[in-house]
Amino acid sequence: MSQTVRGRYAPSPTGELHLGNVRTALVAWLATRAAGGVFVMRVEDLDPPRILPGAEERLLEDLRWLGLDWDEGPDVGGPYAPYRQSERYPRYREALERLAEAGRVYGCTCSRADLRRLASAPHQGEEGPIYPGICRERGLPMDFGATGSGRCPALRFLAAPGTVCFEDLLAGRTCEDVQSQTGDFVLRRADGLYAYQLAVVVDDGAMAINQVVRGADLLGSTPRQIQLQEALGLPRPAYAHVPLVLNAEGERLAKRDQAVSIRRLREGGSRPEDLIGELGASLGLLPKPEPLTARELVDTFAWERVRREPWRVAPPAFS
Ligand code: GLU
Repeated sequence: MSQTVRGRYAPSPTGELHLGNVRTALVAWLATRAAGGVFVMRVEDLDPPRILPGAEERLLEDLRWLGLDWDEGPDVGGPYAPYRQSERYPRYREALERLAEAGRVYGCTCSRADLRRLASAPHQGEEGPIYPGICRERGLPMDFGATGSGRCPALRFLAAPGTVCFEDLLAGRTCEDVQSQTGDFVLRRADGLYAYQLAVVVDDGAMAINQVVRGADLLGSTPRQIQLQEALGLPRPAYAHVPLVLNAEGERLAKRDQAVSIRRLREGGSRPEDLIGELGASLGLLPKPEPLTARELVDTFAWERVRREPWRVAPPAFS
């Protein structure tokens, strides 16, 4: 008997949704709906200084306007509530304590600046210098309580040796040796904030998510997340990393690409069915853009049909 698909979209309320964000949300939603699954909306407001007031309401409203719906989420509730990361800190703390009991966490006082200065950290990983394990044997005290002083050590995950590989539904087979290519990574920062890597693994596990669809910018995080899942005894979901949307200059869309913010497109008179048609065609699900509702696109969905290349937004369609 096959398992019910539990898919999710996990936006961070740090700005307006742009075409790239909703294209990923659409794939996550289509893949879940086409499988008759349950779609979960989780708001990743983990980093308070980056959260914009009102952004959560606006992004949920934009997604609904497009015709997406969810069975569980911060505004509709559900069996795995709360669906906002800012309300889930005790769960992250509990996971950290479990990892510490298993000997997989250590305190670290190295700053990014320290690491850059060190001759022993010559290589750049995806998120800065590869951590060479300086604090690993120091046995620094660990404080799991809420902090804010900036004086507590950060907490790092002791990465396991060996290569992690997974089959991504869109990116194909992807492998990384976490220990040598990223190093032991931070689970909680010195200012007390939990790291995305920890929160996402804890939440996907707790919410029984078995299909993770997200932007290709997070492909490189997945081997770290798989190591965390294994250390916490959580099952591994299926992964699909959706190729990015590029602007006319061939750069990844950013918040400053105002022309492709969903709000701007709405204000400029775009209708949801126009956008869905353009997105459907860009994904390879329609031969050419034609006005369509998100629901009408569900039957066209198959992983094999989804384009593997980044999509370059061609003005004037979206200007
Ligand atoms: N919150 C992340 C973002 O908005 C997505 C995390 C995920 O899907 O794993 O980029």
